[in-house]
Amino acid sequence: MAQAPELRIRGYLVSPDLFTTGYGKESGPWTCTSQCCGGGAYVDVTERDRVLAHAEMVKRHVDETQTQDESRWFEPNDFADSDYKSGRCVGTTVENGKCILQDKRGFCSLQVAASASGASKWAIKPLYCVLFPLEVIANVIRYDRRFHDVRPCCTAKTEFEIPLFEACKDEVVHLVGEDGYRAMESHYKTHYLSEPVVKDGRLRVV
Ligand code: SF4
Repeated sequence: MAQAPELRIRGYLVSPDLFTTGYGKESGPWTCTSQCCGGGAYVDVTERDRVLAHAEMVKRHVDETQTQDESRWFEPNDFADSDYKSGRCVGTTVENGKCILQDKRGFCSLQVAASASGASKWAIKPLYCVLFPLEVIANVIRYDRRFHDVRPCCTAKTEFEIPLFEACKDEVVHLVGEDGYRAMESHYKTHYLSEPVVKDGRLRVV
């Protein structure tokens, strides 16, 4: 297959990973067990501030394995990192072997709280928590291989039925909108599904 051209959407370069890897029907992001939250996450400092601004709402949904003390939800020090919009990030803390914002059922309290309040489920959830196993590094949307071959839901393979961008449709739309998703769909159909071949002296498309 000829090499596909670069795809850029809303200033991001889209890695070929999103089209050349994916999932079978048996497992994918929809079978997520939330174990990726075990080590916590780095979030933009503005996302931390948004969570803290909604602390009372979140506290209604934390359990005894977490804490009502929001001063313990994030690490005290933040760091410069250009992959975060503000240029600075900070870690969530880890207690009881999991992100402090994850409840004992494995659910993210930020998502539970937002949904229960009637807001959109990702209203206060940090971007990279939403996107995983996608990530954005140096403005490239790509597959985060951190748990590749460790957990089925985080393992996009080169033999697949559902390409990664499609398996993560809601996450892609969250990042680049419906238009961006449709641009990926069109790119995939044009450059990864249709392969011109010459058979019996005739050019045809399979
Ligand atoms: S903030 Fe939520 S999604 Fe992110 S690591 Fe913690 S529990 Fe998981």
